[in-house]
Amino acid sequence: MSTEFGPLIDRMARARRAELIALRHRLHQHPELSNRERTTSALVAGHLQSLGLDEVRTGIAGYGVVGVLRGGLPGDRVAALRADMDALPVAEASGLEFASTAIDDGYPGGPHPVSHACGHDCHTAVVLATAGVLAELRDRLPGTVVFVFQPAEEGPPLDETGGARAMLAAGALADPEPTMMFGMHVSPLPAGVVGYRAGTAYASSCVVRITITGLQVHGSTPWMGIDPMPAAAGIIGGIGELYRQVPAYHAVSVSVGHVEDAGRFNIIGQTVTLFGTIRCAVESDMHAVQQKLLQLAGHQAAAYGCTAETEFLQPVPSVVNRPQWIDAMLPTLSRILGPGRVVEVPLTLGYDDMSEFVNAFGGAYLSYGVQDTQMDADELRPLEGGRGLFPNHSPGFYADDDCLVDAVRVHAGVAVAHLAGEITVL
Ligand SMILES: [Zn+2]
Ligand SMILES: [Zn+2]
Repeated sequence: MSTEFGPLIDRMARARRAELIALRHRLHQHPELSNRERTTSALVAGHLQSLGLDEVRTGIAGYGVVGVLRGGLPGDRVAALRADMDALPVAEASGLEFASTAIDDGYPGGPHPVSHACGHDCHTAVVLATAGVLAELRDRLPGTVVFVFQPAEEGPPLDETGGARAMLAAGALADPEPTMMFGMHVSPLPAGVVGYRAGTAYASSCVVRITITGLQVHGSTPWMGIDPMPAAAGIIGGIGELYRQVPAYHAVSVSVGHVEDAGRFNIIGQTVTLFGTIRCAVESDMHAVQQKLLQLAGHQAAAYGCTAETEFLQPVPSVVNRPQWIDAMLPTLSRILGPGRVVEVPLTLGYDDMSEFVNAFGGAYLSYGVQDTQMDADELRPLEGGRGLFPNHSPGFYADDDCLVDAVRVHAGVAVAHLAGEITVL
């Protein structure tokens, strides 16, 4: 039944191309860090209101926005499309004429340069344009579509809450309750290619904070105090060996990305704080890795006469795409994109808190290629003469504008196919 919508959706999505790209550029030039998405969410809410949706709810778990579109035909299904809105503290080096020059002075640890180095500007613009397409089709939709705009996917400041879990806790999706969640994350896959993975698609994650405490003293007389620096170095070095303490068949990564000390060249500070992250391909490994890290930090600190407090914060579960959902979606994806543009991809040790939604309501989270790359056997390579391969979060990350219309076609097509009963899992 939903096939009859295909040509209509294609036409409507293409008609919105200029609007889509303008929206994306505007978002890209005004990036906001996690839990500070004030102007982004105002733009989102204003756009949804202009489409005449049945409900536009704002201020959910911070700056979250939910739009509800009730179709004109009877139907119990509720397709939810999710976009995240936040940017990253990364100085953009994409070379684009609409590159961000934004600085956030007030954010903890700042001032930070801010840019959409994870491409959430694309997600937001694509779901807004999809809302426009589906609003035009409203009278013919047999069910409801919910548009979910989420703040703080990249993790809020450590003393704040936010993100998908906070939206659920705030009842954002209690009524109407989705019967399917769908979303796609932009990635360095070839532009216009959808990557899917049944089972665990994104790793489980947590933030690690290790505070090592010694005794502050003059830099010239370390023996008169307790220097926490060697303990910090020992812990960082030991972290590189943790992977050998879980089965070698299970991918694990533990990284320290930020070290904060309280000293200066001639003061040995009282504390050193390490900030990092644990990622596990097999969710059940997380507890074991945390225990190994606790043991390492405690004993390394003790070896130098220090203490270590190790905290695991902001846990995010794995994105697990149930194979039945992937099987149900593949025919629709192939029909929309054509042959060779729907490919199986390996698991990533990246995380995404879309997992909270997919775990709660079913559906799937896929990736969407936006770069000048090609698949060479299983390896992704830059296309000759193209703009290169730049992973998410790198300063050079970029997304091709032209492929975003097809992302709108996919979002709209999957939502309609769900309402029509073609993509569903009992
Ligand atoms: Zn990211
Ligand atoms: Zn992201």
